[in-house]
Amino acid sequence: MSFLHINNIRKHFGETTVLKGIDIAIEQGDFLVLVGPSGCGKSTLLNMIAGLDSISDGELLLNGERINEVHPAQRDIAMVFQSYALYPSMTVAGNIGFGLEMRKVPKAERREAIERVAKMLQIENLLERKPGQLSGGQRQRVAMGRALVREPQLFLFDEPLSNLDAKLRVDMRTEIKQLHQRLGATIVYVTHDQIEAMTLATRIAVMRAGELQQLGTPHQVYDDPNNLFVAGFMGSPS
Ligand code: ADP
Ligand code: MG
Repeated sequence: MSFLHINNIRKHFGETTVLKGIDIAIEQGDFLVLVGPSGCGKSTLLNMIAGLDSISDGELLLNGERINEVHPAQRDIAMVFQSYALYPSMTVAGNIGFGLEMRKVPKAERREAIERVAKMLQIENLLERKPGQLSGGQRQRVAMGRALVREPQLFLFDEPLSNLDAKLRVDMRTEIKQLHQRLGATIVYVTHDQIEAMTLATRIAVMRAGELQQLGTPHQVYDDPNNLFVAGFMGSPS
Protein backbone atom coordinates (compact mmCIF):
# COMPACT_ATOMS: atom_id res chain seq x y z
CA MET A 1 0.00 0.00 0.00
CA SER A 2 1.41 3.35 -1.07
CA PHE A 3 1.68 6.33 1.25
CA LEU A 4 -0.52 8.49 -0.98
CA HIS A 5 -2.59 6.92 -3.68
CA ILE A 6 -4.13 9.21 -6.30
CA ASN A 7 -6.66 6.85 -7.77
CA ASN A 8 -8.30 7.71 -11.11
CA ILE A 9 -8.97 11.31 -10.06
CA ARG A 10 -11.18 13.45 -12.28
CA LYS A 11 -12.19 17.07 -12.05
CA HIS A 12 -14.90 18.90 -13.93
CA PHE A 13 -15.53 22.62 -13.76
CA GLY A 14 -19.01 22.82 -15.28
CA GLU A 15 -18.74 21.45 -18.82
CA THR A 16 -14.95 21.46 -18.81
CA THR A 17 -12.99 18.40 -17.74
CA VAL A 18 -9.71 19.58 -16.26
CA LEU A 19 -8.38 16.25 -14.93
CA LYS A 20 -9.17 13.15 -16.97
CA GLY A 21 -8.36 10.29 -14.60
CA ILE A 22 -4.99 10.71 -12.89
CA ASP A 23 -3.30 7.70 -11.24
CA ILE A 24 -0.17 8.24 -9.16
CA ALA A 25 1.18 6.25 -6.22
CA ILE A 26 3.51 8.21 -3.95
CA GLU A 27 5.81 6.48 -1.47
CA GLN A 28 7.06 7.85 1.84
CA GLY A 29 10.16 9.99 1.27
CA ASP A 30 9.34 10.59 -2.41
CA PHE A 31 9.97 13.99 -3.93
CA LEU A 32 7.38 13.87 -6.68
CA VAL A 33 7.48 16.79 -9.11
CA LEU A 34 4.41 17.49 -11.26
CA VAL A 35 5.38 19.29 -14.45
CA GLY A 36 3.46 20.35 -17.51
CA PRO A 37 2.42 23.44 -19.44
CA SER A 38 0.37 26.18 -17.84
CA GLY A 39 -3.30 25.18 -17.55
CA CYS A 40 -2.72 21.39 -17.67
CA GLY A 41 -4.23 20.89 -14.19
CA LYS A 42 -1.23 20.81 -11.82
CA SER A 43 -2.62 23.26 -9.26
CA THR A 44 -6.05 21.66 -9.45
CA LEU A 45 -4.58 18.28 -8.55
CA LEU A 46 -2.55 19.76 -5.69
CA ASN A 47 -5.58 21.64 -4.35
CA MET A 48 -7.54 18.40 -4.33
CA ILE A 49 -4.82 16.64 -2.33
CA ALA A 50 -4.86 19.57 0.13
CA GLY A 51 -8.65 19.46 0.30
CA LEU A 52 -9.06 23.00 -1.08
CA ASP A 53 -10.97 21.77 -4.11
CA SER A 54 -13.60 19.01 -4.34
CA ILE A 55 -12.98 15.79 -6.25
CA SER A 56 -15.43 15.04 -9.08
CA ASP A 57 -14.56 11.36 -9.31
CA GLY A 58 -11.90 8.94 -8.06
CA GLU A 59 -10.29 8.39 -4.71
CA LEU A 60 -7.48 9.81 -2.59
CA LEU A 61 -5.96 7.39 -0.08
CA LEU A 62 -3.46 8.57 2.54
CA ASN A 63 -1.94 5.66 4.45
CA GLY A 64 -4.76 3.52 3.12
CA GLU A 65 -7.46 5.83 4.47
CA ARG A 66 -9.88 7.55 2.09
CA ILE A 67 -9.48 11.31 2.56
CA ASN A 68 -11.78 12.63 -0.21
CA GLU A 69 -14.13 14.21 2.30
CA VAL A 70 -11.67 14.96 5.12
CA HIS A 71 -11.54 18.68 6.01
CA PRO A 72 -8.25 20.38 4.94
CA ALA A 73 -7.31 21.20 8.54
CA GLN A 74 -7.66 17.54 9.48
CA ARG A 75 -5.45 16.19 6.68
CA ASP A 76 -2.00 16.59 8.26
CA ILE A 77 -0.83 18.07 4.96
CA ALA A 78 0.87 21.48 4.61
CA MET A 79 0.88 23.54 1.43
CA VAL A 80 3.20 26.32 0.26
CA PHE A 81 1.69 28.61 -2.38
CA GLN A 82 3.27 30.59 -5.20
CA SER A 83 1.93 33.81 -3.66
CA TYR A 84 3.22 32.79 -0.16
CA ALA A 85 -0.19 33.84 1.27
CA LEU A 86 1.26 35.37 4.44
CA TYR A 87 -0.87 37.42 6.87
CA PRO A 88 0.37 41.00 6.32
CA SER A 89 -0.57 42.29 9.77
CA MET A 90 1.15 39.47 11.67
CA THR A 91 4.84 39.24 12.44
CA VAL A 92 7.00 36.51 10.96
CA ALA A 93 6.75 34.61 14.25
CA GLY A 94 2.96 35.03 14.19
CA ASN A 95 2.76 33.75 10.63
CA ILE A 96 4.92 30.72 11.33
CA GLY A 97 3.12 29.89 14.56
CA PHE A 98 -0.43 30.53 13.35
CA GLY A 99 -1.27 26.89 12.66
CA LEU A 100 0.06 25.84 16.05
CA GLU A 101 -1.95 28.57 17.76
CA MET A 102 -5.11 27.33 16.02
CA ARG A 103 -4.36 23.89 17.40
CA LYS A 104 -4.00 25.38 20.89
CA VAL A 105 -0.34 24.49 21.28
CA PRO A 106 0.86 26.28 24.47
CA LYS A 107 2.78 29.51 23.96
CA ALA A 108 6.18 28.35 25.24
CA GLU A 109 6.08 25.22 23.11
CA ARG A 110 5.00 27.31 20.14
CA ARG A 111 7.88 29.72 20.60
CA GLU A 112 10.34 26.86 20.77
CA ALA A 113 9.00 25.33 17.54
CA ILE A 114 9.02 28.71 15.76
CA GLU A 115 12.64 29.36 16.75
CA ARG A 116 13.77 25.90 15.72
CA VAL A 117 12.24 26.26 12.25
CA ALA A 118 13.41 29.87 11.86
CA LYS A 119 16.94 28.75 12.61
CA MET A 120 16.71 25.96 10.05
CA LEU A 121 15.63 28.50 7.43
CA GLN A 122 18.04 31.20 8.63
CA ILE A 123 15.35 33.76 9.39
CA GLU A 124 15.76 33.79 13.18
CA ASN A 125 16.69 37.51 13.11
CA LEU A 126 13.47 38.41 11.23
CA LEU A 127 10.90 36.98 13.66
CA GLU A 128 9.49 40.34 14.80
CA ARG A 129 9.20 41.86 11.32
CA LYS A 130 6.05 42.07 9.21
CA PRO A 131 5.90 40.45 5.74
CA GLY A 132 5.91 43.92 4.11
CA GLN A 133 9.42 44.48 5.48
CA LEU A 134 10.84 41.34 3.86
CA SER A 135 12.38 40.52 0.48
CA GLY A 136 10.80 37.95 -1.81
CA GLY A 137 13.26 35.28 -0.76
CA GLN A 138 12.64 35.97 2.92
CA ARG A 139 8.86 35.76 2.45
CA GLN A 140 9.32 32.48 0.69
CA ARG A 141 11.26 31.16 3.69
CA VAL A 142 8.50 32.30 6.05
CA ALA A 143 5.94 30.45 3.93
CA MET A 144 8.12 27.35 4.14
CA GLY A 145 8.53 27.84 7.88
CA ARG A 146 4.78 27.90 8.32
CA ALA A 147 4.57 24.53 6.57
CA LEU A 148 7.59 22.99 8.34
CA VAL A 149 6.54 23.95 11.86
CA ARG A 150 3.48 21.71 11.64
CA GLU A 151 5.62 18.64 10.89
CA PRO A 152 2.97 17.32 8.50
CA GLN A 153 2.98 13.88 6.91
CA LEU A 154 3.02 15.46 3.47
CA PHE A 155 4.21 18.75 1.97
CA LEU A 156 2.63 20.28 -1.12
CA PHE A 157 4.44 23.06 -3.01
CA ASP A 158 2.77 24.99 -5.82
CA GLU A 159 5.47 26.79 -7.84
CA PRO A 160 7.01 28.19 -4.66
CA LEU A 161 10.00 29.74 -6.44
CA SER A 162 8.36 31.29 -9.47
CA ASN A 163 8.21 34.80 -7.97
CA LEU A 164 11.93 34.86 -7.19
CA ASP A 165 14.74 36.09 -9.40
CA ALA A 166 16.91 33.53 -11.18
CA LYS A 167 19.85 33.54 -8.76
CA LEU A 168 17.69 33.17 -5.66
CA ARG A 169 15.64 30.48 -7.37
CA VAL A 170 18.73 28.34 -7.78
CA ASP A 171 19.81 28.92 -4.14
CA MET A 172 16.36 28.07 -2.77
CA ARG A 173 16.21 24.99 -4.96
CA THR A 174 19.35 23.69 -3.29
CA GLU A 175 17.94 24.46 0.13
CA ILE A 176 14.66 22.69 -0.56
CA LYS A 177 16.57 19.66 -1.75
CA GLN A 178 18.66 19.65 1.43
CA LEU A 179 15.55 20.02 3.57
CA HIS A 180 13.99 17.05 1.86
CA GLN A 181 17.05 14.93 2.50
CA ARG A 182 17.47 16.10 6.08
CA LEU A 183 13.83 15.63 7.09
CA GLY A 184 13.10 12.56 4.98
CA ALA A 185 9.90 14.41 4.09
CA THR A 186 7.38 13.35 1.46
CA ILE A 187 6.80 16.14 -1.03
CA VAL A 188 4.58 16.78 -4.04
CA TYR A 189 5.97 19.79 -5.86
CA VAL A 190 4.50 21.63 -8.84
CA THR A 191 6.58 23.57 -11.32
CA HIS A 192 6.56 24.39 -15.02
CA ASP A 193 10.38 24.58 -14.92
CA GLN A 194 11.99 21.43 -16.33
CA ILE A 195 15.39 22.10 -14.79
CA GLU A 196 13.84 22.57 -11.36
CA ALA A 197 12.04 19.25 -11.87
CA MET A 198 15.20 17.45 -12.94
CA THR A 199 17.21 18.74 -9.96
CA LEU A 200 14.65 18.19 -7.23
CA ALA A 201 12.63 15.12 -8.10
CA THR A 202 13.03 11.53 -7.08
CA ARG A 203 10.20 10.99 -9.58
CA ILE A 204 8.63 13.23 -12.20
CA ALA A 205 5.02 13.16 -13.39
CA VAL A 206 4.61 14.87 -16.76
CA MET A 207 1.09 16.17 -17.39
CA ARG A 208 -0.60 17.51 -20.45
CA ALA A 209 -4.19 18.78 -20.71
CA GLY A 210 -5.41 16.87 -17.65
CA GLU A 211 -3.69 13.61 -18.51
CA LEU A 212 -0.56 11.95 -17.19
CA GLN A 213 1.93 11.43 -20.01
CA GLN A 214 4.70 9.73 -18.06
CA LEU A 215 5.71 8.93 -14.51
CA GLY A 216 9.32 7.98 -13.84
CA THR A 217 12.68 8.97 -12.45
CA PRO A 218 14.24 12.13 -13.91
CA HIS A 219 16.58 9.87 -15.86
CA GLN A 220 13.71 7.80 -17.34
CA VAL A 221 11.62 10.81 -18.27
CA TYR A 222 14.52 12.69 -19.85
CA ASP A 223 16.40 9.88 -21.58
CA ASP A 224 13.53 7.55 -22.36
CA PRO A 225 10.46 9.75 -22.94
CA ASN A 226 7.17 7.96 -23.63
CA ASN A 227 6.24 10.21 -26.52
CA LEU A 228 7.16 13.31 -28.50
CA PHE A 229 5.33 15.60 -26.11
CA VAL A 230 7.40 14.44 -23.11
CA ALA A 231 10.59 14.61 -25.16
CA GLY A 232 9.79 18.13 -26.34
CA PHE A 233 8.69 19.36 -22.93
CA MET A 234 11.67 17.93 -21.05
CA GLY A 235 14.07 19.06 -23.78
CA SER A 236 15.35 15.52 -24.26
CA PRO A 237 18.13 14.96 -26.81
CA SER A 238 16.69 13.75 -30.14
P1 ADP B 1 -1.88 24.66 -13.93
O1 ADP B 1 -1.67 24.76 -12.47
O2 ADP B 1 -1.31 23.42 -14.54
O3 ADP B 1 -1.40 25.87 -14.67
P2 ADP B 1 -4.68 24.72 -13.22
O4 ADP B 1 -4.87 23.50 -12.42
O5 ADP B 1 -4.60 26.01 -12.50
O6 ADP B 1 -3.45 24.55 -14.22
O7 ADP B 1 -5.91 24.85 -14.25
C1 ADP B 1 -6.28 23.82 -15.12
C2 ADP B 1 -7.45 24.26 -15.93
O8 ADP B 1 -8.59 24.39 -15.10
C3 ADP B 1 -7.26 25.61 -16.61
O9 ADP B 1 -7.80 25.53 -17.91
C4 ADP B 1 -8.06 26.54 -15.75
O10 ADP B 1 -8.56 27.61 -16.49
C5 ADP B 1 -9.18 25.66 -15.24
N1 ADP B 1 -9.67 26.06 -13.91
C6 ADP B 1 -8.95 26.10 -12.78
N2 ADP B 1 -9.70 26.49 -11.74
C7 ADP B 1 -10.94 26.70 -12.24
C8 ADP B 1 -12.20 27.12 -11.69
N3 ADP B 1 -12.32 27.39 -10.36
N4 ADP B 1 -13.26 27.21 -12.50
C9 ADP B 1 -13.15 26.94 -13.82
N5 ADP B 1 -12.00 26.54 -14.41
C10 ADP B 1 -10.92 26.43 -13.65
MG1 MG C 1 -0.81 26.30 -11.35
